[in-house]
Amino acid sequence: MKKPNNFIPYGRQWIDSDDIKAVIDVLKSDYLTQGPKIEEFENALCKYTGAKYAVAVSSGTAALHLAVLSLGIERGDEGITSPITFVSSANCLIYAGLKPKFADIDERTYCIDSDEIKRKITKKTKVIITVHFAGQVADMKAIQRVANKNNLFIIEDASHAVGSKYADKSRVGNCRYSDMTVFSFHPVKTITTGEGGAITTNNKRLYQKLILLRTHGITKDPKKLSENPGPWYYEMQELGFNYRMNDMQATLGISQFRKLGKFIKRRKEIVGQYNQVFKNINGITIPFEKNKGFSAFHLYVLQIDFKKIGKTRTRVMNDLKIEGIGTQVHYIPVHLQPYYQKSFGYKKGDFPVADKYYDKALSIPLYPKMSNKDVEYVISQIKNALKRT
Ligand SMILES: *Cc1c(COP(=O)(O)O)cnc(C)c1O
Repeated sequence: MKKPNNFIPYGRQWIDSDDIKAVIDVLKSDYLTQGPKIEEFENALCKYTGAKYAVAVSSGTAALHLAVLSLGIERGDEGITSPITFVSSANCLIYAGLKPKFADIDERTYCIDSDEIKRKITKKTKVIITVHFAGQVADMKAIQRVANKNNLFIIEDASHAVGSKYADKSRVGNCRYSDMTVFSFHPVKTITTGEGGAITTNNKRLYQKLILLRTHGITKDPKKLSENPGPWYYEMQELGFNYRMNDMQATLGISQFRKLGKFIKRRKEIVGQYNQVFKNINGITIPFEKNKGFSAFHLYVLQIDFKKIGKTRTRVMNDLKIEGIGTQVHYIPVHLQPYYQKSFGYKKGDFPVADKYYDKALSIPLYPKMSNKDVEYVISQIKNALKRT
């Protein structure tokens, strides 16, 4: 097949003229930040997920940081997350003074395993951060049972799972199984605001805390002030941050939300095409779907037995790159990062299922803008690249 003119990355955004017009309109308006688009975006998030409250922030990482902080957990306590995630899911625990612990993944879903969580709980454990890996939702019912029994909070890192569904068919982010859900709107994610993130919750107390922490811990709300000497007055009541999203980002998010259904539909089509081909190739495992059609598929991760096919992953990635195709590995297990090894003494072998997964993982291109030609091209090139030479 003929090589397309453009490089095909593993993921990319879809921006159309409606998005561009929305941002230009904000640029011409009175508010570039702290204007009406933030609340509008938050309302769209509530409406879509079914959560009572949403707080838009500057990134998914900021969302995770504020989510952990808002729980008011004492420094020195512990939180448990998955080793197969982006570093932010664990870093947010350290930001809040907690010790990051990990529980190994389920070998089929690549999400944190509730039985492994049980084994890692100590007297100091206070929170579980689940990651809906690649869009596949973790076993929230089982995790909620563990959390309830041990009096733990749950934060869902749903950076991969805008539009995914739980086993009960309701939408991720409604916080039926957790205290808070976190989203990221980085350009590789399902919808984008350039940089951006959000937290949803049904808990009013947590919502108010998040709002406060997002803007320096400052409030001007007359009901919350300890005194009120005049119109200039505000109070800093907590040590907060400037983690605000701006109106250009929020308006882009609103516009992107209108296309989310279309984005997910296209992602699923491509996944279907990939599955048809790759399920028949020896040495390859296609993504497992616990409930067919429930994952919004942020990533398409193949498990490839590189020993069996007789080629290294580096070689396969390089060969594909020469043919104009980007691939990536999601993720290097967090506990193997030098900082984590040095600071907490983690090492290879601590989470054997995660280590084994990592050795075989390869994410191939998946984004709604891929044409049928692109998909066919990627399939034929990957078949080639996996052939013994
Ligand atoms: C992208 C991502 C984040 C971080 O989001 P940013 O918006 O880039 O800060 C956190 N967790 C997971 C699982 C992610 O994929």
